[in-house]
Amino acid sequence: MTTTAHGRFTSLLLDLATHEAEVTRVEEVGAGLRLVSIAGDGLRAAAWEPGDVVQVIVVGEALLGPWEIRSYTPLALDPATGTAQILWHVHGNGPGSDWAASAVEGTPCRVVGPRRGVRLPASHGALVLFGDETSFSTAVAVHRARDARVVLEVESVEESRAVLGGWFGLVDVVLVAREPGDAHLAEVERAVLAAQGGGVDVAPVLTGKASSVQRLHRALRGAGVQGRRISGVPYWAPGKKGLKGR
Ligand SMILES: Cc1cc2nc3c(=O)[nH]c(=O)nc-3n(C[C@H](O)[C@H](O)[C@H](O)COP(=O)(O)OP(=O)(O)OC[C@H]3O[C@@H](n4cnc5c(N)ncnc54)[C@H](O)[C@@H]3O)c2cc1C
Repeated sequence: MTTTAHGRFTSLLLDLATHEAEVTRVEEVGAGLRLVSIAGDGLRAAAWEPGDVVQVIVVGEALLGPWEIRSYTPLALDPATGTAQILWHVHGNGPGSDWAASAVEGTPCRVVGPRRGVRLPASHGALVLFGDETSFSTAVAVHRARDARVVLEVESVEESRAVLGGWFGLVDVVLVAREPGDAHLAEVERAVLAAQGGGVDVAPVLTGKASSVQRLHRALRGAGVQGRRISGVPYWAPGKKGLKGR
């Protein structure tokens, strides 16, 4: 198969694997944070659990390539209307961020999923969720459904508190401000271990920046938490594009 034919074949498969959707609402909820509602028939009657992701084609027409696809975690998905609400971190460094920055009511898109994002323990026991601004949507979804202790590394504690509390009622959350050289991760580590509280039934779910996920994974293992109990899903890593989470 020639490269062009291969590209067309891949695009055809992509077209078959995705469904049409449309932006129905965009709200600026804080600096670099947009709440984007996407509706489509393919999201109707979808089996969705908090923490599951949808993927959005943020560059390209499915049949014409080239294209780029990015992963996002709805904070809610209403199967009756086929509407997913995603809290989008507009960081300004990639096409996914650009797509959300320019999305308006009526913007068409193609989506895949939902599919499993983070692995939540099957039991209804407590869990510790770690992440950053890319995890706000996950945090809201999981906190609404489960006994979740949330620890987040953020650019601004005040602005994050205003968004999470003011818009989503998520007030019971530990926010730690980033410092140069990741000096703040010592405090994050203490907060996650304190939230874990030595509880064997408390399941850690680590999301956000890959290097922070790795460091907390090591810290939890060092504190005696079994590796198989830890769900670690890097959402992004400097210099890498389009992480999928598995
Ligand atoms: C399972 C899963 C669920 C996710 N859920 C959400 C969600 O609900 N909301 C959300 O906002 N994001 C979420 N993300 C993260 C999002 O998919 C990534 O941030 C993705 O890289 C964004 O694509 P992009 O095109 O903007 O940047 P890319 O083209 O992927 O990357 C371009 C450059 O931007 C950098 N970059 C990517 N993310 C950031 C960031 N946060 N801060 C600074 N630089 C960055 C990359 O390191 C790279 O250098 C999720 C990721 C995964 C894997």
